[in-house]
Amino acid sequence: MVMTTRKWEIKEFDNDFIILPKDPLYCPFCHELMLLHDFIVQKSSQGWYHADIHLKCGTCGFYATFGVPISESEYHKLRNSKYHAKIIDKDIIYLYPDKELEERIRSWGYW
Ligand SMILES: [Zn+2]
Repeated sequence: MVMTTRKWEIKEFDNDFIILPKDPLYCPFCHELMLLHDFIVQKSSQGWYHADIHLKCGTCGFYATFGVPISESEYHKLRNSKYHAKIIDKDIIYLYPDKELEERIRSWGYW
């Protein structure tokens, strides 16, 4: 695995860390932007560190899991983040600043 070609990056967000795709990903069914739903990092019994990242399409509800290898230091950053294993709710408007999207997500009852 060549880490430099990885399509995911750890980003600072609200004084903490999250993992996001480097380029926006779009729903294969309705072509809307896939939003970060939550992520969980784990250390496997073989000693590998990885993140399970869930993205969700806000329009049709398609829900996808990406399994991404991470380094030990990335594991600790994400594991200690307040966003670890937490559904991203109202903070999502800061992650994806878009007024129309904000109204749509609010209408789903996120907050
Ligand atoms: Zn969709």
